[in-house]
Amino acid sequence: MSKPKFPLFCGPSSRDLSPKARYRCMRNSLLIVMLAITLIPLSITSGLNFIQYQQLLREDSQANARWNAESARATISAYLEKLEAAITVVIDSYAFEDLSDSKKLEQIFRQLKKEHQGLVDLSVVGPDGIQSAYVGPYGDLVGKDYSDSLWFHKALTRRMYVSEVFTGFRNVPHFVVAASKKDPYSEQYWVLRASIDTETLDRFLALADTEALEDIFLINDSGKLQSASRYHGGAIEEMRGDSTFYRAVSRIQNTPWLLVLDQQGAEARKIWHSFKARLLLTLSLCFLASGGMVVWLSRFLAGKFREADETRDAILSETEHSNKLASIGRLAAGVAHEINNPLAIIGEKAGLMQDLVGLDKDFRHREKFLDQLGSLQNAVVRARTITHRLLGFARRMETSLTLVQLNEILQEVLSFLEKDAAYRNIHVILQLQENLPVIRADHGQLQQVFLNVINNAIDAIRSDGEIHITSRRENNKTVMVAISDTGPGIAPDVLKNIFEPFFTTKGNEEKQGTGLGLSITYGLVQKMGGKIEVSSEVGVGTTFIITFPVYSEGSEGESNDRA
Ligand code: ADP
Repeated sequence: MSKPKFPLFCGPSSRDLSPKARYRCMRNSLLIVMLAITLIPLSITSGLNFIQYQQLLREDSQANARWNAESARATISAYLEKLEAAITVVIDSYAFEDLSDSKKLEQIFRQLKKEHQGLVDLSVVGPDGIQSAYVGPYGDLVGKDYSDSLWFHKALTRRMYVSEVFTGFRNVPHFVVAASKKDPYSEQYWVLRASIDTETLDRFLALADTEALEDIFLINDSGKLQSASRYHGGAIEEMRGDSTFYRAVSRIQNTPWLLVLDQQGAEARKIWHSFKARLLLTLSLCFLASGGMVVWLSRFLAGKFREADETRDAILSETEHSNKLASIGRLAAGVAHEINNPLAIIGEKAGLMQDLVGLDKDFRHREKFLDQLGSLQNAVVRARTITHRLLGFARRMETSLTLVQLNEILQEVLSFLEKDAAYRNIHVILQLQENLPVIRADHGQLQQVFLNVINNAIDAIRSDGEIHITSRRENNKTVMVAISDTGPGIAPDVLKNIFEPFFTTKGNEEKQGTGLGLSITYGLVQKMGGKIEVSSEVGVGTTFIITFPVYSEGSEGESNDRA
């Protein structure tokens, strides 16, 4: 299987990758790690929020349902208690005979009806179960026999009884509140009964603060509906269907009823859906924002790493170059010193021999000898030039800094070279900015720098061409000199070596190169706190740009340090 071009994570094998791929995989690793760091906690928090809110919402809605059921129960209880109290007062105040008088009963009924809404009728039932008096809309109920009715038996056995909802003789759903009392003469119990229609219960239930789709109703212990339900059927029907979100049940004391509140959860669902939508929206925005930030940050950091690496590499190679120059300087000085003496002897002896042979007119090989000795002298001169340059190189490393004007130095250097240039038909075009700020440098070394570069330009052009020399203030901090020629240019593989000591392409020319000019120049410029850069295009020409820091009071210490 072939390796992916840009692996996702940088493992130990990433050292074998190209720099581009290495930075890519570093960026990917940063991206993945940072995405994990930001998005995992975000997702966990949102998940927890999600669960907690759902639970909270359910609990809140259930508490609400319980509260509503409880308040409806309290209303119905209060109503019944008040009615029971009123009936108790009536039965305690009157005897069976008194209440069996329809007029009396009607009077009482009217009074009761004023205070107790929903009261349909009032009747008195004797110990035998026969209704002895009746006031209410169903006039034909006097004489009715309730001896078989459940409510009658239950009422006889307790002081107060609230019945389930039933239809009875009138065929209308209602319930009764009945109280019994012992007749002191017959020692038998008789009953005072009030009937209440179920609409009263429905009205109380409707008062509960329920949501639109909630269902509140009453059932008895066997599950039979005691009031109309929205979903489960009408009063006194068996309860139908049983799917509900939440059911709150509350018993109404001293009655056969349970109050039921069925919650369909529509409101809770609505709130939940809107929360879910908001949560999702917020989460997506957070994901997008943090994703964008992370992508930007990982690119930015990988870029910074890359820059830092490149700067470090550049500093390393510059230091290496400087060290190389320094050690070559020391070596060269030593070698040159050692070679100078034997060279002097060779030159001196060759001169002596020339004189001797020159005087002896009869010497057979005189011309040939003189010719050979001439070559010997030339070789000595050339060797001495090299040793001088090497010694100069070593000496030039010791700088003595003064304030100098770049334009003046350029003029001086040109005065040495203009003859040579004119002889070769090379035009030197100057564009020197006036009032150029001074720099702090070694006068002699600076001359050497420009001499080397301009000499190289002349060598490159050979004859017929132009050299443009420009000086300019670059900004508040630097001044620069650009020297461009119309020579043949430098091929890229040569260009990368031209600052190397002893690198030369001038091997077979009448003026052989030493390969030291530019490496010396590089070292000198660097020593003076400057920078030398080259750009070249084959067939067009070459440009050297040399930059120096402008002298200012504050930068003095800095320059001295470098010196
Ligand atoms: P030398 O001049 O003795 O060869 P330098 O260090 O001065 O040594 O230059 C190194 C090499 O750089 C030269 O041999 C030449 O190939 C190249 N070079 C320098 N300046 C120029 C230029 N202006 N145009 C073309 N080549 C140049």
